[in-house]
Amino acid sequence: MSVRLKIWGCRGSVATPGPNTVTYGGNTSCVQVLAGGGPALVLDAGTGIRALGLDLVRRGTRQIHLFLTHLHLDHLEGLRFFAPLWDEKVTLDVWGPRSPVLSLRERILRAFSPPLFPVDFRDVPARVTFHDLPGDPWRSEGISLFADLVLHPGPTLGFRLETGRSTLAYLPDHEPALTGIEGRSPDWISGGALAGGADLLLHDAQYFDEEYDAKIGWGHSSVAHAVGFCRAVDARRLVLFHHEPEHSDRTLELLEARARELTGGKRPPPVLAREGMVIDLNG
Ligand SMILES: [Zn+2]
Ligand SMILES: [Zn+2]
Repeated sequence: MSVRLKIWGCRGSVATPGPNTVTYGGNTSCVQVLAGGGPALVLDAGTGIRALGLDLVRRGTRQIHLFLTHLHLDHLEGLRFFAPLWDEKVTLDVWGPRSPVLSLRERILRAFSPPLFPVDFRDVPARVTFHDLPGDPWRSEGISLFADLVLHPGPTLGFRLETGRSTLAYLPDHEPALTGIEGRSPDWISGGALAGGADLLLHDAQYFDEEYDAKIGWGHSSVAHAVGFCRAVDARRLVLFHHEPEHSDRTLELLEARARELTGGKRPPPVLAREGMVIDLNG
């Protein structure tokens, strides 16, 4: 089966519109998995999901599964402007990390009710169901999606998506260096089982190495950690994701050059995630 990804947002932390972010985009995390028939499959609801929602409405898509890595606002705030929510014929299944304190639904409602938003999520016309993860793998139309907790502040998931022909790992917010990468078996690396042997790895690469030193424990990776993680788990293609808001298009290109230098010739050269980019999982 041919599976492609479309990136609707790849900026980290906060949306960054403006002339310096035109090439790689300013919208926060949102990735669509395009797999032919079946329900629409969406990873994260950053501000990128707004434009995706309009596209789904145009196409008449009525069944949508949304997988949230975590509930930091840069992965959730676009949900309030997701057009399919306002159609009573739409069925939306929202999957996200469980918490010992409040249900997924209760935590999302906090950001989707007054005074933070004029409408209460309970009043949207679409039929919305919430599911806690990790749990059993999600399967549909030849795709299996696995979730597991990874190192990042608060309950945070990474996703592994298998199609039978190829595997995607999606780890947009991840700091595996906190417990170690180099010299460890993948079993002992955060996210190692999710990303092991993946054909395509979308991974947090928010900082240059020198920036990371001042941000240890913030939950994100340096470019060297992203490359080191890719190598340690033997993933093939690396897509650098969750771009630092302070980084202009030009700065991001320097980061990509650094990633390529660190990777050497043994793997395909890493590339920057870019808004609007379509990636063939088998390519
Ligand atoms: Zn984030
Ligand atoms: Zn986060």
